[in-house]
Amino acid sequence: MEVLIVGAGYAGLAACLELRDHLDVTLLNEEPYHYFTTQLPEVVSGSEAPEDVRIDLDRIVRAPHRLVVDRATGIDLSRQRIALAEGGSLPYDYLVLAPGAVPEFYGLGEAAREALVLTDLNSALRIRDQVAALPSGARIVIVGGGLTGTELAAAIAETSGARITLVEAGPRLIPLLAPELSDYVEDLLTGKGIEVRKEQAVTGLRPGELILGTQRLPYDALVWAAGVRGAPLLSETGLKVDRQGRATVDQFLHPPGHPEVYVVGDAAALRFPDGQVVPPNAQVAVQSGYWVGRNLPRRLRNQGELPFVPRLRGLFATFGREGVGRLGERGTLTGLPAYWFKRLIEGHYALETGGLLFILKRLHA
Ligand SMILES: Cc1cc2nc3c(=O)[nH]c(=O)nc-3n(C[C@H](O)[C@H](O)[C@H](O)COP(=O)(O)OP(=O)(O)OC[C@H]3O[C@@H](n4cnc5c(N)ncnc54)[C@H](O)[C@@H]3O)c2cc1C
Repeated sequence: MEVLIVGAGYAGLAACLELRDHLDVTLLNEEPYHYFTTQLPEVVSGSEAPEDVRIDLDRIVRAPHRLVVDRATGIDLSRQRIALAEGGSLPYDYLVLAPGAVPEFYGLGEAAREALVLTDLNSALRIRDQVAALPSGARIVIVGGGLTGTELAAAIAETSGARITLVEAGPRLIPLLAPELSDYVEDLLTGKGIEVRKEQAVTGLRPGELILGTQRLPYDALVWAAGVRGAPLLSETGLKVDRQGRATVDQFLHPPGHPEVYVVGDAAALRFPDGQVVPPNAQVAVQSGYWVGRNLPRRLRNQGELPFVPRLRGLFATFGREGVGRLGERGTLTGLPAYWFKRLIEGHYALETGGLLFILKRLHA
């Protein structure tokens, strides 16, 4: 029986950790390591070293399981094979698709060519190095006032003498938080010298200049953090996708007509029980991965599958040594307690995935 997982991010790795106790698993990932996306802003600011936010996958995937470091370029759903960039293909009986998401440029091709993006460890190092190479007083424009854009703005402000402008199309920052917490984040960023421009949508772009309706905003470096869409692998394969390019799935995470395939994490179009769209987030990605890890063995034992119900129990963001977050429906935390709470969650995740040795090595570094 071939169980193939594509993508070793939060969702794919969770599926792998759970499945490896029950079945032989092949994990296919572009890089030989898993990285903690939520800590990429700290890599940009230099407060975390790259090796402290990554776990080598060969520590996790050991015989009889198999790690393949390559990129999936296509899926033959009828022959049940995944094509690989370096040639050849991998067969599967059950496929767990967890390729995550890519930046959404809303048709602005110039932005796709010009802008830096923060998506993985390599891109974090690229931003860190390019920011370091800018002269003091250079203009950095960050587009997108969600989690990524706000955390990144604060991280860059910590290390660089650049003038930073954060542009957000909506009326407030991190709209997943309550309005008073959005205001808190705005005050925090403004206090760090960051100019926040809300309700200003990017309508065009020329090299060195962003067009915001009738206004022009010059920049020396542009960072794009204005949302994501499902990985292209999904739509290119012919899977049904929603407007954000995420695969349509049923309550058991199967795309229509393919009970042998599961789609998990940011790649899946998920909804909360109240019908609201699940935003891209690591928490639900991990839940969906573990869910497949428990349900596939159940199914193979003829015990049937249970429906997947996503739950967002909280959401935290950090800006230097300060943070902000929502716990459950009403609880909120700000300042240093919020910072430590997020670090605690990340530490727990690192322990679950990397084990005690990884944590000790990190503490010792
Ligand atoms: C800077 C930043 C900060 C964030 N902060 C938070 C936060 O504080 N809290 C939160 O909940 N969420 C946060 N998020 C969002 C969170 O990181 C994502 O929702 C989460 O990573 C989704 O997990 P995933 O497993 O679906 O995809 P990913 O974690 O993106 O993993 C996808 C994996 O698949 C691999 N892959 C992709 N395509 C292929 C292919 N064709 N072949 C082989 N491998 C492939 C990739 O290399 C990657 O390893 C943040 C995101 C960013 C960028």
